[in-house]
Amino acid sequence: MSLPLVAIVGRPNVGKSTLLNRLAGERRAIVEDVPGTTRDRIYADVTYDDREFTVVDTGGLEVSPGTSLARQVKAQVEMAIAEADAIVFMVDVREGLTAGDEEVAALLRRSGKPLLLAANKAETRRRAEDAVEFYRLGMGEPATLSAYHGRGVGDLLDRLMALLPQPFLQEGPEAAESPMMGVAIVGRPNVGKSMLLNTIVGQERALVTEMPGTTRDALDTPCLFQEQPVLLIDTAGLRRRGHITPGVERYSVLRAMRAIGRADVAVLVTEAPAGLTAQDLHIAGFVHEAYKGIVVAVNKWDLVEEKDTATYTAYIRGKLKFMPYAPVVFTSALHGSGVEEVLEAAHTVYQERLKQPPSDHLQKVVEEAFTSHRPPTHRGRSLRVFSTAQVRVNPPTFMFRVNDPRLLHFSYERYLENRLRQAFGFRGTPLRLLFRSRGRK
Ligand code: GDP
Ligand code: GDP
Repeated sequence: MSLPLVAIVGRPNVGKSTLLNRLAGERRAIVEDVPGTTRDRIYADVTYDDREFTVVDTGGLEVSPGTSLARQVKAQVEMAIAEADAIVFMVDVREGLTAGDEEVAALLRRSGKPLLLAANKAETRRRAEDAVEFYRLGMGEPATLSAYHGRGVGDLLDRLMALLPQPFLQEGPEAAESPMMGVAIVGRPNVGKSMLLNTIVGQERALVTEMPGTTRDALDTPCLFQEQPVLLIDTAGLRRRGHITPGVERYSVLRAMRAIGRADVAVLVTEAPAGLTAQDLHIAGFVHEAYKGIVVAVNKWDLVEEKDTATYTAYIRGKLKFMPYAPVVFTSALHGSGVEEVLEAAHTVYQERLKQPPSDHLQKVVEEAFTSHRPPTHRGRSLRVFSTAQVRVNPPTFMFRVNDPRLLHFSYERYLENRLRQAFGFRGTPLRLLFRSRGRK
């Protein structure tokens, strides 16, 4: 299922990350778990007015490492132009119009993409009036907002919705139970993604030409795996032969994110000789933030002398602390080994995502969780739960009706998630836990 992609671009410090966090609403504490990084989230699925879209803060993507700031911004903008359905160009009314803004605007205007100019840090009426100077960018009326205080964000979203492709409704069982499992193969360059893909497609020769009831991109490859239809997503970039120029690779981050957004399960391909790098962790972070299923494929296993899978799995668990649920599979795309296990694992994860435990069992598990470990009190009050329901599958989504969602502590949320996993499994997939006040819709 493809969500429209909105990219926020703009110079550093204009407030892109602040806006993204505000749009994301619920915060997920992934940051603290990713070793060596203190990044903010840069990717979120947003629901507004029954529409859904994915938003990306391009400022959080280091597109061309080691280059000047100006070139970074330019690379981010080019990437957004290549991949996004709409672009929010953010400027800072307190700083006023800068030469850098003009350069970005020139690139954007030429792109032909739907654009929205967002003039941030407009806390006061006076500041909002200052935004008139941005008319000079030739991008129409700036939407004035204060991302930090939340002012003007609704208006910005209204204007943004008008720019996006058709209205979108993704709720309900039909959308959730898409007939075909969508798999995105992702990972940094040179880990062996193309080779893995070619092996899969080669092995599962039975290429399905037409699948009824699905719309898909031309870049997707449907195939059959053990009689089950599988849609390999955005394979265009993978099927290439030989070398790819750095210029093209540079734009592939957003493309991979987009493929992840459309997938049910992401296969994160890593390579054993190099181990897990920061980039691998970032991609894993996107998958987690997008609530997609994951399979970690440790490729080039043939190059490892002592093939101790238990130790290597422990190493991966240590690195990917925020996704202890991820299955790990060892592959050699070169020799074709382990490739079947990848699809098998992906299929299992997909089934887990579609799982719906009986509601009375769910209630019981949650009740027991609360009895055996009471939520901590905060100023004399503590979290109480009135009811729990699974409101969606793929990803498994649970709605807890509580006395006051503000009383929920992150560690308690994690505890509840663990209890759900102990009772029901959900291997390989993030769970989405929603906490709402009783009576609120
Ligand atoms: P980014 O580099 O574009 O992602 O910018 P950030 O979101 O990190 O924000 C840069 C700084 O501007 C931070 O100190 C924010 O708190 C601040 N900031 C963001 N939005 C606003 C706003 O609406 N008003 C004001 N006054 N400050 C803001
Ligand atoms: P991609 O950039 O992730 O798509 O990686 P490629 O599929 O293009 O592979 C990059 C390089 O790694 C190529 O030279 C492959 O021959 C090599 N390679 C891929 N998989 C394996 C593997 O399992 N074992 C070994 N030894 N080499 C591999």
